[in-house]
Amino acid sequence: MKVSIIGLATSLLASSVAAAPGCAGNISTGSFDMARKLVEFAFNVNDTSVWDELAEMTDLYGNRMTASVQYARSADWVMRDVKNYPSITAWTENVPVDYWKRGTESVHLYVPTREDPMVSLPMLGLGQSVGTGPGGIEANVIPVSSFEELEKLGNATIAGNIVLYNADFVSYGDNSKYRFYGAQKAEAYGAVGALVQSITGYSLVTPHTGTMDPSGIPAAAISVEDSKLITRMYNRHQQAKANPSMHNADLFVAPKVKLVMNAQNHVNHTMQPNIIMDIKGSEKPEEIVIISGHFDSWDVGVGAMDDGAGAFCSYGALKMISRLPRRPKRTVRVVMWNNEESFSRGADGYFEAHKNELDNHVFAMESDIGNFEPWGMQVNAPQEYVDKLSAYGQLLLPSIGGGNVTRVDDEPAVDISPLCSYGIPCGGFEPVDKYSHAPPLSPAGYEGYFRFHHTDADRMDALDKHQLRRNAAAMAVWAYVIADE
Ligand SMILES: [Zn+2]
Repeated sequence: MKVSIIGLATSLLASSVAAAPGCAGNISTGSFDMARKLVEFAFNVNDTSVWDELAEMTDLYGNRMTASVQYARSADWVMRDVKNYPSITAWTENVPVDYWKRGTESVHLYVPTREDPMVSLPMLGLGQSVGTGPGGIEANVIPVSSFEELEKLGNATIAGNIVLYNADFVSYGDNSKYRFYGAQKAEAYGAVGALVQSITGYSLVTPHTGTMDPSGIPAAAISVEDSKLITRMYNRHQQAKANPSMHNADLFVAPKVKLVMNAQNHVNHTMQPNIIMDIKGSEKPEEIVIISGHFDSWDVGVGAMDDGAGAFCSYGALKMISRLPRRPKRTVRVVMWNNEESFSRGADGYFEAHKNELDNHVFAMESDIGNFEPWGMQVNAPQEYVDKLSAYGQLLLPSIGGGNVTRVDDEPAVDISPLCSYGIPCGGFEPVDKYSHAPPLSPAGYEGYFRFHHTDADRMDALDKHQLRRNAAAMAVWAYVIADE
């Protein structure tokens, strides 16, 4: 039976639901009743299972760098755990993965005016960086705030030195270009190394790693504080050079660092899996709705927020659906993607392996931008489809959040982007960032997520047990309704 959204909204959810303007019309009572049960799960404060299970796995095996032993052991943990849920069918699909191994690494800043002149700076080598060789490299540091400034200084100033990209945080999109391309561009002007100010709007002397494009020179991230320290030293040195009579001789010291990185790249190191889990649809099992997060992480912290939370909220959502008395008509599939952090081999591998059934994929969702309070989804799909989802969200999710929907032209998350490009409607699951005071979806609205992103601090403490449950419930509602309508 089909019933009017507006009718249900007024009769069952009273004043908490406003009818969507241009409301899509109808939702079946079966979907509606199951969605309400899923929302009830969100209010069960005794259920902290999503957080607890992620904590158990990460306490035991640590982070899940792609191609690492820890990734394999963590995947085994999931495959053992899922056996407790007979209605979930789980399997793994291997993809070839490279292994970037950090090795020992350090940055020391030479400050001859200090008692110990070799000042150790917290740092993290960038993923895929080459090493320095065991002796390391020593060179003066030239700070630049943009690629334009680098170009202006050119070979004459840059050659033989280490470039420091010291741009302040605007957004991940704006700043990550220095991490991705900084070494490559500096190398073109003869630099011998690159340092990148960590991409974050808030720092407790925390370096943030991340991947970079191939370059022949080594590259590492340093903290915002140390980037500013080096920049101040450089500026004073420049002033002293211009006014030699006015200055204390100590100010003539140009910033110089010793960078040591024993990083190694092992190409095609091994085969490792995506993890896939289905609850088969009751009427159209061949049609698939994906909810997902990536399983791999960086090799620092435990990848709790990035993206253990997205993967486990998806898994938690599937477990919630498994507890319902009625399966949705279509299959709900969880994918825990491999290799998001470097080459997206998990996403590409899935696309290749499932080429013949792509037309049966109805929707693909990914959560990989933090799991604070649920906000909703950015959806890449025709406006009419987005309006339909928006009406569902406003009907079903006002009490826990997660019901907002906005249309975007870009692919809203990395792993689902091949599916999006193919034309499958896709959604990035979005949080209300608990640290940011900026509105959700604004570039500054993810500031809290980027405090922890790719750092040693990305541990279980970055996550809230009750927020994870509410995220899982909201994702479950979306998956169920899309799979059932
Ligand atoms: Zn991520």
